[in-house]
Amino acid sequence: MSNSASVLEDLLHTLPDLRSQIYFKPSLTALSHAMEDQVLAGRDRPLVIANFQRERYYRQEANRYLRIAARTDQVYVLAAPETDFKHQSDHYETIAFEPTDGLAQEWHLVVLGTNYASCLICRERQPSATEADIPPTLGLDQGRRFEGIWTFDRQVVCTAAQLLLDRILQYRPELATKIATVQQTFFPQTTTGFQGVDPGPFAERLVTYLQAGQYKLLKAYRSISMQEQKERLVNSIMIAVRRSLNPDDILSVAVQELGQALQASRCLIYRCKETDTQVPIQHEYRQSEVASLVGQTWNLGSNPLFQAVAAHKEQRMVEDASASQWSLPGQPEVTPPAPVQEWGIGAWLMVPVVHQNRLLGMVEVHHCGGAYRWSEASLELIEAIATQIGVALIQAEAYANLEDFNQQLEALDRTRSNLIAITGHELRTPLSTIQVCLESLASEPDMPLELQQVMLKSALSDADRMRKLIQDFLTLSQLESGRVRWHLEPLPIQECVDLALSSLRARQKGTSLPEITTQVPAELPLVNVDGEWVVEVLAKLLDNACKFTDPEGKVLIEAHPNGGQMLEVTVADTGRGIEPNRLEIVFDRFYQEEGALRRSTGGTGLGLAICRQIVLGLGGQIWAESAGKDRGSTFHLTLPISPNDEERTPTPTPTPTQPRKKQRSAKGT
Ligand code: ADP
Repeated sequence: MSNSASVLEDLLHTLPDLRSQIYFKPSLTALSHAMEDQVLAGRDRPLVIANFQRERYYRQEANRYLRIAARTDQVYVLAAPETDFKHQSDHYETIAFEPTDGLAQEWHLVVLGTNYASCLICRERQPSATEADIPPTLGLDQGRRFEGIWTFDRQVVCTAAQLLLDRILQYRPELATKIATVQQTFFPQTTTGFQGVDPGPFAERLVTYLQAGQYKLLKAYRSISMQEQKERLVNSIMIAVRRSLNPDDILSVAVQELGQALQASRCLIYRCKETDTQVPIQHEYRQSEVASLVGQTWNLGSNPLFQAVAAHKEQRMVEDASASQWSLPGQPEVTPPAPVQEWGIGAWLMVPVVHQNRLLGMVEVHHCGGAYRWSEASLELIEAIATQIGVALIQAEAYANLEDFNQQLEALDRTRSNLIAITGHELRTPLSTIQVCLESLASEPDMPLELQQVMLKSALSDADRMRKLIQDFLTLSQLESGRVRWHLEPLPIQECVDLALSSLRARQKGTSLPEITTQVPAELPLVNVDGEWVVEVLAKLLDNACKFTDPEGKVLIEAHPNGGQMLEVTVADTGRGIEPNRLEIVFDRFYQEEGALRRSTGGTGLGLAICRQIVLGLGGQIWAESAGKDRGSTFHLTLPISPNDEERTPTPTPTPTQPRKKQRSAKGT
């Protein structure tokens, strides 16, 4: 039954003089409504045939057709069914044609009365490729195009009515008698043109629709211009980002662009974290009549708006900042912070700069002079900018980290080269001695026995020095690489001191040492340390103290809490002392005052470097003090007190090393 033929084509074929025209959907709606209004307003009982293409379009007008059906019993409504539209003879005749029928592509309305006639016979044009690209938000439905005929010419109307009635009969042959009466009633009339037609309603309808179209166009222009403004801003920020990886440049461009776009009284952008209580204001846009905040310290800790934004990581706005109480979403009422009065802020908006849930900064917009509400479009714009700033800051941060990392690598490379050179030199020195001694022994078999003994002794002593050097070097490498696993346990420091002393005595057996005294009170709290490593530090410090002090001198070991959660241990001697400008570098690798070649005291020059690594690794600090040459030296180290033992910590007793900040003291960090 489906007939793919087009009624429009049939009409144009029957009346070849007709010229079809293009109509946009709103014009057809306007014309159809005007034609229907004429039926509703008139006294005539005309024939009305309406083809709605699809059931959904008919549904929008169903009530109107009930009213039309109250005026005339000759109403025929056609549509392709989508839900429950079917052939029916109720208030009016409904004809449910098949979706494949040519009628599904056409919009028809025929009104044929005794006094007037009008018709609209149109076919929908498929959108071209470019039209199909128009986003639905810009009114694709409004842009639907039809081509066809709209006329009051009775002859044309009658022909169109006949064509449509024929199509109706194909679907509903049972209506033949009813349709025959229509034809008898209306078709013999011969009135033509605008006779009996009042064009007023048509003009009014068309003007209304034209106005509505203009309004929609205006809205579309506005949205396009907002979009364009947003894209321009985002672009200029992107350009600034590409030009510079300096966060200050990025923020200063962003604040100017954004402030200008919003015509804000004042706009601020700063970097911050959730925990910040204050920030200095550096980047600002402002209107000339508003006071500048640049150089001010902005209080964040006491600002409930900042706190709310930082906590939720989403924008918040206070429309009337001067109200006696602020009510922020999900929070109890709060008193406005001081800047509202001080800086004349009427409305206050904060939008966070967030990256992966991390607060990186804040965009603030102030409206000075009364309450204000920022539009959705403005909020969207600010949020888009805040997102761009976030990306830019992360990029800048990554770049800074990379630079830092690069510098560290370069420094590491320099250190490595130095180390290889120094180590090579330090190892070669004893090796050459050993080689010379052994070669002499081998090449001169007649060498006197005493000289042979001296040679052997010298070779053995340098071999031992090499062994120590390699051992210390390996220990230091292990410590510096961070591969040491500390076995922390609560220990009395006295135990470590005793072990260090007995190791010293075992090593220096037979040599006369200076007098060594210990002053370690019994009630001291335990330290949370790795005992073996602490003994190593103390042994090295004691070794040095004895090495650089005459046997007539004195060495004193003391320990006392230093007022915090640390225990301080000092190893003081009355020996040769250290020059003030050397107090720090004595902790460097291979530092020896006499230089490796003129060494009289033995040692590897790595002892203090090892001590520093151990103490830092245990969470303490180490530094040296000395009043200068021949005035003795004091080495201090702090060690963490065991947490379970903190309450035992007695109040510190003043000792010769306190107060801590003494002249010429330097921390070996
Ligand atoms: P070394 O094996 O030479 O002792 P260290 O790293 O232990 O190496 O010490 C480095 C340098 O610091 C020593 O060579 C010495 O010049 C200086 N030094 C260390 N301890 C003392 C001290 N108690 N008195 C004077 N100088 C010291």
